[in-house]
Amino acid sequence: MGKLTAVKGMNDLLPPDSAVVEWFEAKVRDLMSRFAYRNIRTPIVERTPLFVRGLGEVTDIVEKEMYCFEDRLNGDPLTLRPEATAGVVRAALEHSLLYDGGKRLYYMGPMFRHERPQKGRYRQFDQIGAEALGFSGAEVDAELILMATALWAEIGLTDVRLELNSLGQPPERLAHRQALIAYFEQHADVLDEDARRRLHSNPLRILDTKNPQMQGLVNAAPQLLDFLGEASLSHFNSLKTILEANNVAYTVNPRLVRGMDYYNLTVFEFTTDRLGSQGTVCAGGRYDYLFEQLGGKSTPAVGWALGVDRVLELAKTAGLTGTGAPLDAYAIVTETSAMPLVLSTLQSLRAAGISVQMHTSSLEGMGSMKSQFKRADASGARYALVFGPDEIKAKQVTIKPLRDAAVAQTSQALADLATWAPTLQSTV
Ligand code: ATP
Ligand code: MG
Repeated sequence: MGKLTAVKGMNDLLPPDSAVVEWFEAKVRDLMSRFAYRNIRTPIVERTPLFVRGLGEVTDIVEKEMYCFEDRLNGDPLTLRPEATAGVVRAALEHSLLYDGGKRLYYMGPMFRHERPQKGRYRQFDQIGAEALGFSGAEVDAELILMATALWAEIGLTDVRLELNSLGQPPERLAHRQALIAYFEQHADVLDEDARRRLHSNPLRILDTKNPQMQGLVNAAPQLLDFLGEASLSHFNSLKTILEANNVAYTVNPRLVRGMDYYNLTVFEFTTDRLGSQGTVCAGGRYDYLFEQLGGKSTPAVGWALGVDRVLELAKTAGLTGTGAPLDAYAIVTETSAMPLVLSTLQSLRAAGISVQMHTSSLEGMGSMKSQFKRADASGARYALVFGPDEIKAKQVTIKPLRDAAVAQTSQALADLATWAPTLQSTV
């Protein structure tokens, strides 16, 4: 058997990067609870028809990016979720979550898409998403955008831009779609292969092309905003008014469309220039028709999802991230016979909230005091706790500061642990 490696586009997350992810997730959890969004965890595997609905437009994700397979035992068509909104809505319907009114939910977890792997684009990637189910007002669209804006501020990201658009309602989209197809048909010679393929399946998506040769054509194409009726415009204006009142800067991008087919009215993206072509860090919008598409009764909803990998890349390049809690102490132990006493002491320290790493024996024994101090230093701990023969005999520990030369070394009785333990706790 050859060397086993991870699947292409599916990455291991290792320390210290994993600490950065934990730092970010803790920030998000805290934020979500202040906005009264509750956590939901849906399965990673869903039935394929949840995503392939036969309704709506063909999207790239459904058409060619999904990991689909059959249940080996009963042949059920299954799919690794490419996104979580459909699963959240399925769960809301299955458990009648909205019986007593709207629900605000958030999720975190891996999604799977068979894309061409590149920086910021993976085949397994983590998303965090927020969904407000059962609310139709523009103030909820605004709340979600304000929540994301607060998140950028709380992690110290400054150069994230907000782009907004309104996709209107189905009849408005249909009128625009017809105008769009007619327009692109008139200019068929300029369309690339992708655009020609999408012309009748998803012409809106042509507007999202990254092909520089088509930019002129796309810029002059009929704009959906010009096809919106009064109600759609009024929803859009209410949202803009709230954002303005909260000093949230935005630009209206009439060409902004989303990868999934279920959006209507508000769509938005937070983007940055600092991640190259994978510059969208968070995206979302309103999806008032998804409940019906999944067999439920008409229920308005709005949400967003952010790409954890991209946000972290951004936070890392900006030097914003935490690196996880620093270690308080490293226990230096010279005799294996001292282990029972050392372990029970460390157990009490950890119960008192102190983080402590213990030196462990290798085949060569415990190693010299000098080599153990080297390890202690490399661990990043603020104190070395020395359990040498003299200390063990006297039922004491020597506490030696490793980072601050001004702090004196002390000896403490193990019996007094409750008094000295708190002094080890890092204040950061
Ligand atoms: P893109 O245009 O970049 O392909 P998308 O429209 O497919 O994005 P969504 O389905 O709305 O994106 O997902 C929301 C967010 O999840 C994106 O803005 C991005 O930050 C992240 N994301 C999407 N696909 C990937 C991926 N393959 N790898 C890493 N992050 C991703
Ligand atoms: Mg995509």
